[in-house]
Amino acid sequence: MKPAFKLQDLLQQGDAALAATSSLLGQQMAVIDCEGVEFMTPGQLDLLFADIPEAWDFLTLAQVLESHSLSDALAQQISQWITLRSGQVETEQELSSTVTPKGIDRLLSFLPIFERKGIRLYEVNSQQSVLEPYIYSSEVNGFLQALHDEGFILPNFDWGVWVDDAIQYVNEPDLLHYADLLTLQKLLTTHVRMERFNSGNLAQLLDNGHILEVLLQLVAIRESMADIEQVVPTSSVNRITATRGDIIQQPVDAVVNTTNIALDIGGGVSEAIHAAAGPGLKEECRKLKGCAVGQAKLTRGYNLSVPWIIHTVGPVWQGGLQQEDELLAQCYRNSLALAALCPIQSIAFPSISTGFHGFPIERAVHIALTEVDRFLQNNTSIEKVIFVCRDAKVFEVYSKLIKEMLDPSVV
Ligand code: ADP
Repeated sequence: MKPAFKLQDLLQQGDAALAATSSLLGQQMAVIDCEGVEFMTPGQLDLLFADIPEAWDFLTLAQVLESHSLSDALAQQISQWITLRSGQVETEQELSSTVTPKGIDRLLSFLPIFERKGIRLYEVNSQQSVLEPYIYSSEVNGFLQALHDEGFILPNFDWGVWVDDAIQYVNEPDLLHYADLLTLQKLLTTHVRMERFNSGNLAQLLDNGHILEVLLQLVAIRESMADIEQVVPTSSVNRITATRGDIIQQPVDAVVNTTNIALDIGGGVSEAIHAAAGPGLKEECRKLKGCAVGQAKLTRGYNLSVPWIIHTVGPVWQGGLQQEDELLAQCYRNSLALAALCPIQSIAFPSISTGFHGFPIERAVHIALTEVDRFLQNNTSIEKVIFVCRDAKVFEVYSKLIKEMLDPSVV
């Protein structure tokens, strides 16, 4: 008999209980009795289902949720959650690496720790035999943090279908010599996700030297990058400015359009850009077949006075637990990465997601400045980034944060 948890109790115990139960559900090692629960917040759903395999559909999930105890309202909510998640999973072709040489360097700073022999990198919590019995050292936790911070973990990667590949790399470490950066990212993403699914997975990889092997291959990749690309950290100071005005009237090589997944004409920025660019833009957008949240696509400027338009889809604010921060950061990273491939030296951004999409302004501006600053530090082709603010309030926030975050004379 599998242990049966009561959802009502888990909700009362809080987020940690939901997250801890998630891996048991994913492994079909427990069932949940949902009796009496009519509603869960999106954040609670995310925690409870964080570790269920991507391939599960509603029916499979309903089995571990004891379908007889599911109310119609909760069933509908869960089925919407599944649909939403499957829409967020990127296809293989769409996955791209946003890891910077600086990010690799940060990860490689952990190399000496994994090279040292005999140092304790984890303990087994004997008090807890099922839920999260492994406690990792601060070094390993720092490493995991760096993986997240520097974009090594691919947020929308369907890692569940990659588990067999990951195991093959563990069994045949020589294969790692052929792995490129994106493959290493898939590998690390799978291992990190697996840890929650299968506590102790990481401990095993530390013990058998796999993490060390992965880092050694990263050293090789980093060395080959240095040959092609002279990474001279450049300063972003004076290259980032904010101005009040209309996005369609900027003297730049490219403007960024904040749009929707269908790349259709919407309100706000997208309406202004389409009105100025004319029907040719609509036609080209139609051929692009949409754009996922956080991604970016390029078109010509048509009747707009700028040659290029970069279209990106900002996340809709849903309270902050739906990866909105990361998705917004991706909008800036992907737009800039695209611009860097084109003859674009200056680019105007609107304040993505802060209009109809409802993102809190200060939080959005903080993300915008962090990402643009980080990108420009490793890029020399883009000389100027202008944040164009239609509203006085938004402009005020940009001015304040540019001073606080980017001006070295301000401490
Ligand atoms: P989203 O759907 O991503 O929230 P919006 O177009 O609704 O995008 O708004 C994004 C931001 O751009 C908001 O701060 C809004 O005030 C501002 N904005 C709207 N129209 C323009 C424009 N023509 N030029 C510059 N900024 C604009």
